[in-house]
Amino acid sequence: MMNFQVAIDGPAGSGKSSVSKIVSKALGFKHIDTGAMYRAVTLEALKRKIDLNDEHAYSFLNELDLRLEHEKIYLNGQDVSKKIRSLEVTRNVSLVSSHKFVREKMIELQKNIALKGCVLMDGRDIGYNVLPNANIKIFLTASSEKRALRRYMELEEKENVNIKDIQKEIELRDYMDSNRKINPLKKASDAILLDTTDLSIDEVCDCIIKLIKDGMENAKRCNE
Ligand code: C5P
Repeated sequence: MMNFQVAIDGPAGSGKSSVSKIVSKALGFKHIDTGAMYRAVTLEALKRKIDLNDEHAYSFLNELDLRLEHEKIYLNGQDVSKKIRSLEVTRNVSLVSSHKFVREKMIELQKNIALKGCVLMDGRDIGYNVLPNANIKIFLTASSEKRALRRYMELEEKENVNIKDIQKEIELRDYMDSNRKINPLKKASDAILLDTTDLSIDEVCDCIIKLIKDGMENAKRCNE
């Protein structure tokens, strides 16, 4: 079985999640949404009403059964794919994911899932930390205005929502994710930078699919 790894990193709203879903489906790759994993931990931490600032309070992770299957995420067997997208989770996930213990646990899981087959993993620290030997590394960016607009368009309920507020929240999350001490949001030095501000999802997907197909051809040739 061929083992081929694709790492896609970038800030919130850069198009990572949508693009990763479409590209992995088109190529038959296993998609690992690492943001969804940190969101699931945040959901569980909120449910347990622990002190989110206290790293020791996350010891529940030693028994937590967290699984990603067919674009859905399960916590102790329960599908929480919708719940992890709530405003409360979004507002607290950067704090939760800044703890060393939380990251160690998630990264161990992420590395294990990526051991076999063809995988596409998206997140903030994949290219330089989780999968430093990935065959293809991509870093997506876009202006914060465009990212806020995309998030707004994705919302089902648009009443009482203001694009400026979404933009502020995205900028705060970027700041926290980029400035934390452990595994901050960062482009791997050998990642391809793709600015998606003026590109459609289809254009970004076409570009990435081509990069992966070329990369797989090269890998096959090297193995011959
Ligand atoms: O990708 P998404 O916006 O769902 O990620 C939610 C949060 O999870 C990020 O804002 C970040 O705090 C955290 N995260 C992380 N490392 C990753 C993926 C996500 O710290 N590899």
